[in-house]
Amino acid sequence: MRVLVTGAAGFLGSHLVDRFLALGYQVLGMDNLITGNPDNLAHVMRHPAFRFQRQDVTAYIEVEGALDGVLHFASPASPVDYLELPIQTLKVGALGTHKALGLALAKGARFLLASTSEVYGDPLVHPQPESYWGNVNPVGPRGVYDEAKRFAEAITMAYHRSHQLDTRIVRIFNTYGPRMRPNDGRVVSNFIVQALRGEPLTIYGDGSQTRSFCYVDDLVEGIVRLYERGTSEPTNIGNPHEFTVRQLAEQILALTASRSSVVERPLPVDDPQVRQPDITYARKTLGWEPTVELDEGLRKTIEYFRGIIP
Ligand code: UDP
Repeated sequence: MRVLVTGAAGFLGSHLVDRFLALGYQVLGMDNLITGNPDNLAHVMRHPAFRFQRQDVTAYIEVEGALDGVLHFASPASPVDYLELPIQTLKVGALGTHKALGLALAKGARFLLASTSEVYGDPLVHPQPESYWGNVNPVGPRGVYDEAKRFAEAITMAYHRSHQLDTRIVRIFNTYGPRMRPNDGRVVSNFIVQALRGEPLTIYGDGSQTRSFCYVDDLVEGIVRLYERGTSEPTNIGNPHEFTVRQLAEQILALTASRSSVVERPLPVDDPQVRQPDITYARKTLGWEPTVELDEGLRKTIEYFRGIIP
C-alpha cells in the first residue's frame, strides 16, 4: 500500500508520515516548503519506504507508480500564516485540492481532505456537530482559509458524487504537539515559547474566548481510523474538553514554572468566540475518542520546545 501526503513537511503532515510508515505503508511526501520545515522529515529521509518530492500542489501533480491513498494536508494553517499568504492559502485549498483529487481519481486512490473547524466560523451553535453549516465571513481576513476549506469540502463531495471517488473529510480542531514551529503564531506554541523565554504571554482580547485542544497523537489516531474505515461524511476530530485562552495561559505558566507576566493584545478580526467539537459521529463510526488530557499533552509539548529553544 502506498500513500501520498501533501504538506508532508508540516506539523500534522510529518506526524502522519510517521504513522503511515509505522503501519507498513510506502509513503510519498510532498511539500513546497513555504510553511513546512524539512527538519520535520529529517529522521525519515533515509527510510526505505519513504520518498520526498518538493512540489507545489497547486500546479499539475505528476506521481510515478501506483497510489492507494492521497491525504491532502498542504495549506498554511496558522492564522498568522494565512493572513500573510492569503492567495497561496486560497490556491492550495481550491486549485491544490482539485489537483490532488484529480490525481486520486487517475490512480484509483482513496482521498482524504484535511478540513477544519474554521468551516464553522464564529459558531452560533455550540458545541459544533457536523450538521452545523457555520457562520463564516467570506470577505473578512480569515475568509481566505475558511472559504478555501469550504470550497475544498464542496469539490471533494462533488468528486465523490460525480466520480464515485472514495473520499474522507476530517474537520480538525485546534491541535498541538511537538514539531509546531516556535514562530508558528498559534496560541499553544506562542504561550510555551513566551513562557520558556520569560517573555509576557500575549493574550488576544480579554482571553475569555474558548478553544478545545487536541494532542497530535490523538488526532493522528483519529485520522488513520477515518482513512481506513470511516465514511465520506465530514467527521470532526478534536478534543471536546474546552478551555478559555486565559486558562490555557495559566496552565502553561504553571507547567513551565515561568515567571512571565500576561499582557492583553488586540483580538484579531473575526476571531471565533467559542469552539468545541461534538465528536458523537467519530465515536460512533470510528470508535475513536481522545485519550490525552491537556496537562499531559502540554508537558510533552513543553519538553519538545525546551529542546529546540536556545
Ligand atoms: N491567541 C492568543 N495569543 C496568541 C495567539 C493566539 O490569545 O499569542 C488566541 C487567538 O486570538 C484565538 C486563540 O488564541 O482566540 C486560538 O488562536 P490560534 O491562532 O491558535 O488558532 P485559531 O483557533 O484562532 O485558529
